[in-house]
Amino acid sequence: MKTLKIAIQKSGRLNEKSVDILSKCGLSFENYKSSLISPVQNFPLEILFLRDDDIPEYVQDGIADLGIVGENVIEETGADVTYLHRLGFGKCTLKIAVPNHSEINSLNDLEGKSIATSYPNILKKFLNKNQVQADVRVISGSVEISTNLGLSDAICDIVSTGGTLKSNGLKPFADVLSSEAILIAKNGIADENEQVQELLLRLRSVLRAKE
Ligand code: ATP
Ligand code: ZN
Repeated sequence: MKTLKIAIQKSGRLNEKSVDILSKCGLSFENYKSSLISPVQNFPLEILFLRDDDIPEYVQDGIADLGIVGENVIEETGADVTYLHRLGFGKCTLKIAVPNHSEINSLNDLEGKSIATSYPNILKKFLNKNQVQADVRVISGSVEISTNLGLSDAICDIVSTGGTLKSNGLKPFADVLSSEAILIAKNGIADENEQVQELLLRLRSVLRAKE
């Protein structure tokens, strides 16, 4: 039997819950410390610990067979992978927000304005769909301070509780994408593969027990 590889985030918001859900599926392995790969002791599977941004493409290219990653990252990378199951954690929404006293209150008001984001591909698609022409400015971190710095008129960023927006004097007014962690697979491998089917069976019962 071929040993499968599953890629999960090595550290960050999805690491702990990814490890937790795999453990609840009865898999016994060591969480990431210094090695990139951890063998599962009681199942023909290896865990790869990666930056979340790399996971969709690794799975698309078959370097990993499976992966756990946020939908926002899958959509942004545009990787062509199969969605096997939603996992119910890592929930967040990509939102457009403006300073509290901004005159921008609707999508139409964004016409000709600038929007800072780390999600240019998702945002551009959304703007196209809504027939809004705006200037999308890519920044890799601290998007929430870019309006205060005068870098943009609006931002498009990941929000979970809304606390970060609020403390930066921003109000959200449009939802671009709602996201949660997803179990993905390389296209075409899941249907016929016994190990993947066994994992899915266990996963479904773990998720059902949580409801
Ligand atoms: P890495 O070092 O792996 O690149 P990162 O800093 O890009 O990590 P994290 O901040 O750990 O990413 O977030 C991982 C994922 O958690 C996000 O892509 C998103 O799907 C989800 N998430 C849930 N809530 C939030 C939030 N409030 N802010 C950002 N991401 C969130
Ligand atoms: Zn990342």
